[in-house]
Amino acid sequence: MTATVDVLGVGAHPDDAELGCGGTLALLARAGRRVGLLHLTRGEAGTRGTAEQRRREAECSADALGAVAVEFLDFGDGSLRTGPEEEEALLSVLRRLRPELVFGPAPFDRHPDHGRAHRLLADACFYSGLARRGSEAPHRPGAVFSYMQHDGFEPSFVVDVTSTWEVKMAALDAYESQLHRPGRADEGPRTKVASPEFRRAIEGRARHYGLLGGSAFGEPFLARGPLAVADPWGLRNTGLR
Ligand SMILES: [Zn+2]
Repeated sequence: MTATVDVLGVGAHPDDAELGCGGTLALLARAGRRVGLLHLTRGEAGTRGTAEQRRREAECSADALGAVAVEFLDFGDGSLRTGPEEEEALLSVLRRLRPELVFGPAPFDRHPDHGRAHRLLADACFYSGLARRGSEAPHRPGAVFSYMQHDGFEPSFVVDVTSTWEVKMAALDAYESQLHRPGRADEGPRTKVASPEFRRAIEGRARHYGLLGGSAFGEPFLARGPLAVADPWGLRNTGLR
């Protein structure tokens, strides 16, 4: 039986969660939180790399971030299924891993799998807390936030990931079949994600949100509703001045 986690980064495809919130996951792992990764598909429809290769890469990437668990579901890359069977399978993983904090895809994005994954995850996180649904012990995560992928949104908060930026890039380097790595010869088919421009864009976006949040590198997140703050004094240095 897999141990439980405190934090779960969920992606439609292997590398999504690392790209969207790898710095934040590394930060939480460094602070002693038990971090897990869950990939809803095996990435088999990607232009580059095989599902087996992407599994190995995902395991190396999770290691780099300091995660204690990496799991895969098989909901169909390129046509992510969101029916009752998939909802049940995801609910079962949530009840077994019992994360308090969940990061997942945003409601809308360029790749339709991301929006579908958002809805499926949001629904499963809620249903997972219903005592009378299924036979496993219920568990509802304390919070579910969306990380940013292709399309932008007005973030609810930005996490300062300056101290773990290099860790995030090392985790992304583990995806050898997917992402450009400076200094490495690349003979694979050209894709948007595998281009040097994409890597620069990852850094550019993090620098942009870092600037807004008052740090060198930032990862933006979206909350479904307003965030409750116990002590507003803690917000005085959040980059607004
Ligand atoms: Zn994706």
